Amino acid sequence: MKWPGFLQPLVDLAGSDIRQPRPAARSGTATGSRSPATRVEPVEPIERSIALDGRPVDYLLVRRRGRRGVGLKIDGSGMTVAASLTTPISAIEDLIGKNSSWVLKKLGEWSHRKITPQRWETGATISFLGEALTLMIDAGASKTKVEQAQSHLLVQVKAPIHNADAIAHQAEAAVVGWYKKQALPHLAQRTFFYAKLHQLTPPRVFLSSANSRWGSCNSRREIRFSWRLMKARPALIDYVVCHELSHLRHMNHSAHFWAEVERMCPDYALLKTELDQNDHRFRAF
Ligand SMILES: [Zn+2]
Repeated sequence: MKWPGFLQPLVDLAGSDIRQPRPAARSGTATGSRSPATRVEPVEPIERSIALDGRPVDYLLVRRRGRRGVGLKIDGSGMTVAASLTTPISAIEDLIGKNSSWVLKKLGEWSHRKITPQRWETGATISFLGEALTLMIDAGASKTKVEQAQSHLLVQVKAPIHNADAIAHQAEAAVVGWYKKQALPHLAQRTFFYAKLHQLTPPRVFLSSANSRWGSCNSRREIRFSWRLMKARPALIDYVVCHELSHLRHMNHSAHFWAEVERMCPDYALLKTELDQNDHRFRAF
């Protein structure tokens, strides 16, 4: 089983994590035999298209020196094909063709949960605690600063006003920093609130940058939450908090565990579904 490329491999400390759902459609890998060197292609990824079952399918061809065989990967951003510098296009497309039913099935499974990359420009919106904030980016500033003003997020970056790439890059870094700064107090406060309410010794709370799980809990009573959770509405965050706190009593996902979650968070089933159905939105950055 292989995770989509943008998901990091995870170490599960106590077997008690919330993973974002692996869509039934998770990526897989098909490997073909190595082809003789006949042609050299540029190393930059190339966008290509192939007809499968009479339907055009776009893919990104990524060539790497020393790559063995051809790898197909399908995730929320589409199909990526990895090959060596010299594998002929004909051999690559033969392999895709041979796996066409698998490719079409995986693309179909992913199509309803496509990850749209975040735009880092004035007017673009980002989700914070379930509310849409409109970005207002001010380039050429003397220092980097992020400030929320009602439904706007004012972002000052030092990048020169004509360098859109540098502006986007610096704006993203500044906004991620801002999310992390908001995340710890919010998550710690909700954790202490529910711990107290349910007579639990408060655990230690840490932040993670996990992209594929919202929280984790270990037997040392340490709970980690992904700062990305701050994109979700407060009720969804509370569900994750209750989920992780319930692991302090049950380090598993047994019926006893879910009964504990329900006791702390009576709407958990609806909230869990909502979180599962929206996780791709929370992975835009
Ligand atoms: Zn869990």
